[in-house]
Amino acid sequence: MQSSLPRTYLILVGYLADGRQENNEKLVDGCLYVKDNTGIIPCELLHFRLEWLDSLLVFPSWSYIPQGDQSAAGYLEILVDPVPVNAPREELHSIPVTSPMSAEPLLASRIPCKKRSKLTVAGELTRLGPLLCIHQKTFFFLFLKCFASAVCIPVLVQKPSQMLWHHVFQLGHSYTITDLSMSSLKKSGQTMFVTSVSSCLLPYCAEQVREQPLNSAWQGESTQTSSFETAEHLSCSLQLGAEEERLRPTKESKIISYVGFVTKILNVQAGLFLLDNQVCLCLAYQPLLNSARGLRPGACVELIDVHLLQKPLVSFPFAVLGACLSSMVVLKSFSRLSTLYQPMASSRNLCLQLLFRFNLGMPLYLWLVSLLEMFEERFSCFFGHSRLLSSTHQNPGAAEKFLVPLLQAVVPGREEARDIYNEILSKTHQCPLQKSLSLDPPCQAPSLSAVCHVAIQKSWEGFSPSQLLSPLEAQHMGTQELNRRLAWSYCTLSAESFQPQLILVGVLRVSSRSSSLQLQDKSSKLPCVISHKDGSPFTQTALIGSLLQVENYQLVVERFLKTDFPSWEHLKNLEHVRKRKTSVYVQFYFEDVQVLHAAERRIQKGLRSGNSSSLRKRKDGSTTSELETPEAKPLKSEDPKADCGRDENCQEAQSSSSSTTSCVSRLFLVTQKESLMPRNYQLPAEETKEAQEQQRSFQATVLWLGRPQLWSHPGEIGNLAELEETGCGGKEGVTQQEALLLFLGRSLRWFPFLHVDGVYHLIVPCCSDLEVFDKLYFPPVPATFLSRPSCPLCLRVQDSWHLQHETWISCLPECQLSVLTGLEQRTASIPEVLSSSFTGSLVSFCGEILTRALCASPKNEKPLVIAGLPKKKGTLLSRDHSVKLSVSAASGSPVVVDVYITATCLQHLRGLLPGAKIHFQNLERKISRFHNVYCTYIASSCLSIISLPASHLPSPSSPAEESSSPSLVFLCNLRPQLQNLAQARILCHLSCVLTVCLQWICSLCSCIFKEGRCTRHNPPCPSQTGVRQASARVLVEDGTGEAVVLCRNEHVAAVLGLSLLEWEALQNCVQSRGSVCIQHGEAPGTGCLEESEDLVACYLRSLCRSPLICRPILLDFSLDRKPSKILQPAPPQLRNFHSGEVEFVSQVGPRPSLLCLKVEEVGQDALCYLNSQRMNRTSSSC
Ligand SMILES: [Zn+2]
Ligand SMILES: [Zn+2]
Repeated sequence: MQSSLPRTYLILVGYLADGRQENNEKLVDGCLYVKDNTGIIPCELLHFRLEWLDSLLVFPSWSYIPQGDQSAAGYLEILVDPVPVNAPREELHSIPVTSPMSAEPLLASRIPCKKRSKLTVAGELTRLGPLLCIHQKTFFFLFLKCFASAVCIPVLVQKPSQMLWHHVFQLGHSYTITDLSMSSLKKSGQTMFVTSVSSCLLPYCAEQVREQPLNSAWQGESTQTSSFETAEHLSCSLQLGAEEERLRPTKESKIISYVGFVTKILNVQAGLFLLDNQVCLCLAYQPLLNSARGLRPGACVELIDVHLLQKPLVSFPFAVLGACLSSMVVLKSFSRLSTLYQPMASSRNLCLQLLFRFNLGMPLYLWLVSLLEMFEERFSCFFGHSRLLSSTHQNPGAAEKFLVPLLQAVVPGREEARDIYNEILSKTHQCPLQKSLSLDPPCQAPSLSAVCHVAIQKSWEGFSPSQLLSPLEAQHMGTQELNRRLAWSYCTLSAESFQPQLILVGVLRVSSRSSSLQLQDKSSKLPCVISHKDGSPFTQTALIGSLLQVENYQLVVERFLKTDFPSWEHLKNLEHVRKRKTSVYVQFYFEDVQVLHAAERRIQKGLRSGNSSSLRKRKDGSTTSELETPEAKPLKSEDPKADCGRDENCQEAQSSSSSTTSCVSRLFLVTQKESLMPRNYQLPAEETKEAQEQQRSFQATVLWLGRPQLWSHPGEIGNLAELEETGCGGKEGVTQQEALLLFLGRSLRWFPFLHVDGVYHLIVPCCSDLEVFDKLYFPPVPATFLSRPSCPLCLRVQDSWHLQHETWISCLPECQLSVLTGLEQRTASIPEVLSSSFTGSLVSFCGEILTRALCASPKNEKPLVIAGLPKKKGTLLSRDHSVKLSVSAASGSPVVVDVYITATCLQHLRGLLPGAKIHFQNLERKISRFHNVYCTYIASSCLSIISLPASHLPSPSSPAEESSSPSLVFLCNLRPQLQNLAQARILCHLSCVLTVCLQWICSLCSCIFKEGRCTRHNPPCPSQTGVRQASARVLVEDGTGEAVVLCRNEHVAAVLGLSLLEWEALQNCVQSRGSVCIQHGEAPGTGCLEESEDLVACYLRSLCRSPLICRPILLDFSLDRKPSKILQPAPPQLRNFHSGEVEFVSQVGPRPSLLCLKVEEVGQDALCYLNSQRMNRTSSSC
């Protein structure tokens, strides 16, 4: 893949320079350049001699390495040492030098350096620090060792002309440096030698130097000079310390040296290189002033004293060699491969900025790099690298906004600067790389496709169909019901459900195809549902195209199963799961959103009247400020790519000149919004191609407020001048005009933003024609009907038009409201909807979803299925299914109304989960043949989510987890109008058992199942599986009235007082008989179904007659909404009652029919307690 570098045999002639003369302002960075009178190119050499500087050289072998970015210049790699054209100057004269051993004590003395004369020191180079650039000053440190002992002295090289020395120094070689003075650091007091302008670097040559005893003047002053022995001792202990450090690998990282080849550049901006395909070299802690020139794949590097960190970050695949300020990185040979040069930016490098700002250790740094890499990968295609990363002090870029809070959370209060001098000079090594820890990433922000993948995986992890059903229920279910109950389930995941915690980041989009909001990144799209915490719907069209971050969310995975389980006994056998599908979406509150990058603001002017939309008056009168409403509303629509073709001209026009930015807007109030479904609209001529087919659309009835307005600039739209005109101005001139807005095609994207009671601007960009709306009206009905006054005009919302939410009708000031009184949607309460006095067929109400279940569509409901509508991918719900939502007024409220929505309508309705509060609008109110009120979702209906389910909601896999026991009531209080009572409890006396019926029925056809076969013969039924079902009717009374209670299945056992074992045995006896039924008062032998002497029947009969059956019980029940006709309550009648010897006659009302939900035995103590409570309540209510 990587071809070797092509060689051109050209000889290069030029001067070597350090770049100082070229540009006086230019910072001396220590780099070398080749120049002639035509130009200058940076170059890298493996060896350098000072005498080459500024002399004419012939370069016999070199390579030019172009930059990856073609526009920028590359650099030269000098492969063979250059040859000077002129003979080198000879400078051989002996000079007096001081060895480091005798100079070291000088550093320990505290004599002001100015008083001292300059010193020349010679020694062996033991360490060479990296070139550093701080506060526009470039410098480096080196350490010279005495020839005879281990004493080492630090030398700071700081003059611009001396930066080239860095290229000269080679470890182990000896050098002489002249004219050194002494200096100390203000902060730590550490002392060192410092070069002066006149300092020279000379190679050490024993013959040319003579050891000079310390200057007599110096000797005299340094009275407290420590002895050599002390110095010796110090350096020994230093070495010992270092040894000790190396022996503790668990806490401290090992310091090693390494030679290897660069095999891959992992991330040049983060300073990460792969060596020998096995270990990562991290240069981030050691600034590279040469922009990583030479570090191309194929180059050989020698690393001296680098930290070996075995597994700093769990998710990072390599061990890391970290170079700190006391490490050395030496380029040993250039790469022979033809790979481009990627420069490492030293300024505006976000990775490095954050590394130094938060003083990060290696594990956190690698984590930061991985987050940033992922972030760039996902979003640079939307915003471009530079816009994601660029940040100024006042205006941090998206990446910085994303990363800084995360780092602040992980390293609180760690914003202390690194002390680099201490790192370099301290006798005991101190640097951020010393700790060798292994870090689990604190959080992650993976791509959306990965999020969906993991969420789906988690939703099926450990999933088994039996979790969805309680075994007590499931064992009595027939095939159809069983499989229907399994067909649709869900699970919700939060940020904490993932390890590490998962942060969602995405660009907010709205799809006109699915009319849903989406978060998007390069990899995928994730549908989303956004709500406001105050219950108002989401309307911020300005957020389209913005980059959002959400940490508090509910990721919902809807699971669809196609199964054919014959009965509950087969639930373990997963062969019966034929198909499984999922759909994933996320829901969150707008208040939990952080905008990392606001959508492009093409329109900068954003002066808005303060009282309109920035402040929002709630219905209760309080005023809350809307969070983070971007000032200017961009006229940018959903998909920049898709837009390019369509309204490019328009947008360009907007940005280019102000004369064409004028636009027309008209204010309107939404009075009704209808659901999204195919409608039979005849479109204007240009779209006749699709006119034959039904178009998916939605429509809204609106009231125009004021006349169209002309704006010179879209940014000005926002004051509600029209309203003032409508409200306070001449009322007579303004007629309230209704219109039907029709949304088709691309304008379907406004579906999630348009809500009833909202006041919006409809904006026609690049337009100055005030009659633009009037011209586009078209009648939805033949022209002959048009003359009728009630016929509304229909206006198709054009693709390029824009919608901008201004306020809500409830937030308008009184004077403006007066015109609109009575227009606010009327929302009924659930008890009102259920009341028999309710009139009207369309109802709107708010409520919390208690349960959600699939059921077969009611027979009389025609499913809203239109041919040609593609089945939504991802669901397996068959079209004849409906979802039944049980909705209560508030959590804990006993009153419930059922809402039925056909499966086809569910496609666009996300967030219908138990626990969610929903505003249902314009549902059809219906009454069943049992006189129950229920509602159905029809074409004119819509809904909005008021609040999301609490996140601590018990998972649906643990059904019937009741939070509190239902309230205790009296039978006399059960009035028929309370038929939607969800659940209540009575303390009652079981008077008698009216009927008991135990059966085995066929799981397929519900015929009697006997001796392992279905009894249906015509046509014969192939079923192999029977399920047992039991039912009983009992009579109870609680002193205030009587009721008939229908008990099913396991409740029959409870009411008969049978243990589970006895119940099992009894049901097994029925298996061979098919069915056993008895009735109260029936004489033996007159059984209707079975032969007279059936043992099981006899047993049941005697059980029911036993006085033990009649006992106090605690009964949880709901009202039987479909009471049996046979047991319909008789009209009020006179009945005799006995109390001891006394007989009463009393009029008794009709017996209510109850459905048993739970039977509890009552002990003597509990009975006394409950009775006393009853007494209290009776007396207090009397
Ligand atoms: Zn270190
Ligand atoms: Zn059958």
